[in-house]
Amino acid sequence: MAVSSMDGYAVTVESIEKTPTTLTQIGVSAAGKGYEGNVNVGETVRIYTGAPIPRGTNAVVIQENVETNGSCIIVKSSVTEGTHIRHAGLDFKFGDKLITAGAKLNYRNLALAAAMNIPWLNVVRKPNIAILSTGIELVSPGELIKQDQIISSNNVGLSAMISANGGIPINLGIAQDNANSIKDIISELSCVDMLVTIGGASVGDYDLIKSVLGDEGLNINFSKVAMRPGKPLISGNLSGVPMLGLPGNPVSAAITAILFLRPAMNKMLGKKDTSHETVRAILGSDLGSNDKRQDYLRATLSTTRFGEIVATPFPKQDSSMLATFAKADCLIVRAPHADRLSSGQQVNIIRLDDVP
Ligand code: AMP
Ligand code: MG
Repeated sequence: MAVSSMDGYAVTVESIEKTPTTLTQIGVSAAGKGYEGNVNVGETVRIYTGAPIPRGTNAVVIQENVETNGSCIIVKSSVTEGTHIRHAGLDFKFGDKLITAGAKLNYRNLALAAAMNIPWLNVVRKPNIAILSTGIELVSPGELIKQDQIISSNNVGLSAMISANGGIPINLGIAQDNANSIKDIISELSCVDMLVTIGGASVGDYDLIKSVLGDEGLNINFSKVAMRPGKPLISGNLSGVPMLGLPGNPVSAAITAILFLRPAMNKMLGKKDTSHETVRAILGSDLGSNDKRQDYLRATLSTTRFGEIVATPFPKQDSSMLATFAKADCLIVRAPHADRLSSGQQVNIIRLDDVP
């Protein structure tokens, strides 16, 4: 139904071809209570925002352009047909498909669904993602820390990423580097859609994830990826629960989470995944040739005066360095065995803007 977008007077434009002109007010149309009758030339109906346009009228004159004297309405300037009228179908029409599967139900989508009178929506449950940190050297932020201990930071970052990506992080705490400690915590697992472990994924004497979870029935898909940072990365399945074993080094954990955990979550949520999408940029400093692992180099972005994007890698890329990761705007992706590159040449980057 056509409604008014302003407070004013509904008219037929024929009545106000010459202005000023005086019309007779014959009724009122309010939101939720329209005027039932017909409006003829020389007549007008008082109308409010959201109120139905009365039969016989085809424009609304705003009240600021009118003087009133009882039921005599003096219109001071004319308007064209359709002025201040919201026609039916202006926002959406019957049968329009405006919210696609996989969309996040945020303010905008939910309000739109409600406005379209859709009271029920099929949704995907938020996946519960358990996070287990491992290592006797780890203490939680805020705890007393001894010389040979470090703060467990990976689980904090992961929790933020999981929540922001539509999941529910479940913090299982910190397991010691022994089989019983890991088994005890894992045995408590229930109602979990995915298990993510941090650390202990490599081949050192204290790297127990593969062997301990192996004893518990973990089927391993792979346990190494030719990438840097992030070589010791385990993917498996523990009694039907998908498992991802992230490396412990903070930047390795973060980058493997961006490139492996996020796509896995997006798959569970039925969302389109763009985690591996790259865009082109100009390299801001020279790079040596690459070895057999694919590199993901932390870099900052700037723009030349011609509007081109420049990616400049940090000179140090140690996988313990969270400060450079926090400052980075993107990751420069370098293929295995890539030749050396000079500043000014093109590189592929993954932007970190949408990584929480
Ligand atoms: P790992 O893979 O267990 O050998 O750990 C590699 C490095 O990452 C070591 O320096 C660990 O102390 C560190 N690390 C392991 N887990 C965490 C964590 N949750 N937060 C921060 N650093 C960690
Ligand atoms: Mg460890």
